[in-house]
Amino acid sequence: MDNIFWTDTHAHIHDDEFGRTIEEFINEAKESGVYRCLTIGTDYENSVMAVGTSKNYKGLYAAVGLHPEYADIYNKSVDYDKFYKLAENEKVIAVGETGLDFFYEDNPEKEKQIEVFEDMIDIACKHNKPIVIHSRSAASQTIEVLERAEKKYSNLKGIFHCFDGSMEVLEWIKGRSFYISYAGNVTFKSADNLRYALERTPQDRLLIETDSPYLAPVPKRGKKNMPAYVSYTGKFVSEYINMDMAELSKILEENFKNIMGVSDTWK
Ligand SMILES: [Zn+2]
Repeated sequence: MDNIFWTDTHAHIHDDEFGRTIEEFINEAKESGVYRCLTIGTDYENSVMAVGTSKNYKGLYAAVGLHPEYADIYNKSVDYDKFYKLAENEKVIAVGETGLDFFYEDNPEKEKQIEVFEDMIDIACKHNKPIVIHSRSAASQTIEVLERAEKKYSNLKGIFHCFDGSMEVLEWIKGRSFYISYAGNVTFKSADNLRYALERTPQDRLLIETDSPYLAPVPKRGKKNMPAYVSYTGKFVSEYINMDMAELSKILEENFKNIMGVSDTWK
């Protein structure tokens, strides 16, 4: 295992709804060659918690943001400054998750989601940090917002997290500072579209994640997910694209450092 090194680029472990502790997560992760994790905030209070937790563990980093499904609660005149301030923290290496989700009809209205997304992008670029994008059933609109943003900011960069296989997005990232992160669902039997995208994802743009506590990869499908399990996704990807596992883990490590600019671990 010495030559294998995984990072879970997207998990929600600071507020585990099953009561598991960070120590448990880290111990399990070490056993599986997973040595770093980015824990992701979903609203302001949750993001504060992510930052507070990350401060106590080397190799645990935080992202702060407002998830599109909670866009309704955003009050620009108060919340912009709160997120701006929080994102200054040195353990905060990205802003998110943020983005657009038009999957459910009763999701917050599009205009509101776009307002929040644009403000999160603004905060990220002003701190020169990448964004963690949640985009579901919204590829074209996500790209529209990003294209408007890149006219304003020269340092726009980010990760499409839990990638949904959009060919439009895969085409769009070419020549831009954007990465594609695959979650455990790429291992699911029904996910041919994700594997189709995986084969076409440039190696220097590839990342993997768990999105814990859900979406555990095969062979842990249906179980409570945790950062350790990103190793199964790594193994799956290496077999699927026919690349040696150590070689893949080295490439993913390079990619992570390129986008995030940090390298601490809990190893
Ligand atoms: Zn998430």
